[in-house]
Amino acid sequence: MGLFSRNKPKIKVQTTKKDGYSGWVKCTHCHEMVHAKELQENWHCCPKCNYHYRLSGLQRLELLADPGSFEEMFTDFQPADPLQFVDTEAYVDRIAKAQKSSGRDEGVMVGTCKIHGKKVALGILDFTFMAGSMGSVVGERLTQLIEHACREFLPVIIVSASGGARMQESILSLMQMAKTSAALAKLHEKKLPYLSVLTNPTSGGVTASFASLGDVIIAEPDALICFAGPRVVEQVIKQKLPPGAQKSEFLLEKGMIDCIVNRHQLKDKLSLFLDFLTNNERLFEEPSMDGLPGLSKKLEQLMEWVEETRQPV
Ligand SMILES: [Zn+2]
Repeated sequence: MGLFSRNKPKIKVQTTKKDGYSGWVKCTHCHEMVHAKELQENWHCCPKCNYHYRLSGLQRLELLADPGSFEEMFTDFQPADPLQFVDTEAYVDRIAKAQKSSGRDEGVMVGTCKIHGKKVALGILDFTFMAGSMGSVVGERLTQLIEHACREFLPVIIVSASGGARMQESILSLMQMAKTSAALAKLHEKKLPYLSVLTNPTSGGVTASFASLGDVIIAEPDALICFAGPRVVEQVIKQKLPPGAQKSEFLLEKGMIDCIVNRHQLKDKLSLFLDFLTNNERLFEEPSMDGLPGLSKKLEQLMEWVEETRQPV
């Protein structure tokens, strides 16, 4: 997990002794000066270079869910420490610290919400809570969400941002990979769609389980998506990785993901996929040229857009 802390993009606040905090920040990607307010209004994407800064779980929720539509579920699953794990610090203390600094109770929030009026089961991993690592609670809440979706016939969307398995829970953490994958297999049997959204960074046991099992796998631009991070891989193979390896654009080229979507379009594109995959009634209301119901028009629109995203930038 320390893997990401070294290179994680930090926004340095520029201050002078004279005027104190001026509100200007320097983009760590293009090094241009950007006003913090402008960055905030732009969904934390750099207005100059479009670098996608990390969103907290709550910001992600605000981006995707129709206002006021989210109903959080399964909050009765709370972190525990059955192994009484202590590294440089006791796990219980780490949890308490993470809860205080992030304002969240665990590394994921799950529930139902509406996306452009369509009801979905939504799970959002929160990197601000112990690097969005998957412990028992993260795995259990996601599994409960997927099982709820099976019962209620809802499509599932999971937004990942994770350093992988939670080391402090050892094998209990690894078990979550099998559990979430098994739940998704049940969802698949019910022919309900699962959209997986990968954000910077998605790695380890999360990449190796539910994050890679989407019917459609969508990534944000320039996101690190990997099992082991570049530094570890380079140490093992004793070679430099090609530039951009393990980034969204590279993975799209290699067929590991289906598309890259800018944060500003993410909600609309998810809605389009939902319409297409769930045969939403609205599809059939739209007239189309060839007399078929609106489905073919939506399909055309979808294929056109997929083609567009495959063009080299
Ligand atoms: Zn920038």
